[in-house]
Amino acid sequence: SYGLLFAFGQLRDFFRKIFDWWSHNSLEDCFNRPICSSPDAWFDVVERISNDYNKTLKRTTRVDRCLNLGSYNYLGFAAADEYCTPRVIESLKKFSASTCSTRVDGGTTTLHAELEECVANFVGKPAAVVFGMGYATNSAILPVLIGKGGLIISDSLNHNSIVNGARGSGATIRVFQHNTPSHLEKVLREQIAEGQPRTHRPWKKIIVVVEGIYSMEGELCQLPEIVSICKKYRAYIYLDEAHSIGAVGKSGRGVCDLLGVDTADIDIMMGTFTKSFGSCGGYIAGSKELIEYLKHNCPAHLYATSISPPAAQQIMSSIKVILGEDGSSRGAQKLARIRENSNFFRSELQKMGFEVLGDNDSPVMPIMLYNPAKIPAFSRECLKRNVAVVTVAFPATPLLLARARICISAAHTREDLTKALEVISRVGDMVGVKYFPAEPKKQ
Ligand code: PMP
Repeated sequence: SYGLLFAFGQLRDFFRKIFDWWSHNSLEDCFNRPICSSPDAWFDVVERISNDYNKTLKRTTRVDRCLNLGSYNYLGFAAADEYCTPRVIESLKKFSASTCSTRVDGGTTTLHAELEECVANFVGKPAAVVFGMGYATNSAILPVLIGKGGLIISDSLNHNSIVNGARGSGATIRVFQHNTPSHLEKVLREQIAEGQPRTHRPWKKIIVVVEGIYSMEGELCQLPEIVSICKKYRAYIYLDEAHSIGAVGKSGRGVCDLLGVDTADIDIMMGTFTKSFGSCGGYIAGSKELIEYLKHNCPAHLYATSISPPAAQQIMSSIKVILGEDGSSRGAQKLARIRENSNFFRSELQKMGFEVLGDNDSPVMPIMLYNPAKIPAFSRECLKRNVAVVTVAFPATPLLLARARICISAAHTREDLTKALEVISRVGDMVGVKYFPAEPKKQ
């Protein structure tokens, strides 16, 4: 059996080498590696992020400028903004780029205190704590919330930062079928009886972890059903809103706002500032007691340098714009625009015959390619026509479920999207990824 295992390992390495060599070569000619600073063909170098609607200038010989359909710039705050940018520059002059201190040792500026209050108010919880990195927010907070003797029940498609946080916590982990409340209930029922008091169960604590919008699926969480199951079984609920906060909901307050869920029913609200707010970092929002506990016990709060002041200012300013507190209606327009853009793009792709995952209103739109061999051709042919798309494959997705993941922004114009649709349609025909018959065009 050792011989067989060895032979299998060799075979796997052989195919992996062929795949690496092939994907490397197919990407090489579109990213012009000699002037790419990265030695790895998977990483492209973006030379400039311009303020004229979410376009990037890439260092390639063939593509000077392209429409960016891959970044999480949901509300268009990732480029210079008339309200945010001057304030960010001011904060840079006043506080500099880094506090060079931890939160507890002089790294809490007035900006940090204001930011935490602003985030708590925005997401609708009594208090919040912020961290310098979204990924680390999940991976550092989960081990503080729960440990050995606890049970984490995690959606099967949760982000890697959640998976790492859950593993690092030492708690027992059970996984439920992606976004399937009935399976969550089944998993819970296997562990505890309905209505059993928290003090009388085999687990010290149970936390159910879900995401607001799933980043590889574009699906909205079945939150109302999941909340009622958590209530029934007295399990805590942890909601990662990385892709939904700011991007959906009438006032941009995420999936609770969109789906009519009371934020009082979500015990732990997590999110990142790296998408809708055009900044960096992450937050946890919850009860005053929870946030106090985390501030005193989370090593990433106690021992890490605090979030950069200009980044903190960018978050607060963009929230002000979203809420209309800048004195303009730009925030409301951005929210309306991302919704219209997303629903327009999704329905047009479907009419063309693509298989598109996800729900209406979600700005995340995976186009199924299935066969991973179609990835380099799809992205290269789009890029040649000045449209940059992100393609995703194993291990981020199952092996035969490769996809191009489109992220729509409020900064895209209708003209941008129409051009992109033409390109994607042509490339889809060339590569052979239209799996449904196209709807006849209306005259
Ligand atoms: N949670 C989810 C659901 C994510 O998709 C991501 C990354 N896109 C993160 C957390 C990590 O956030 P960040 O990129 O801000 O570190």
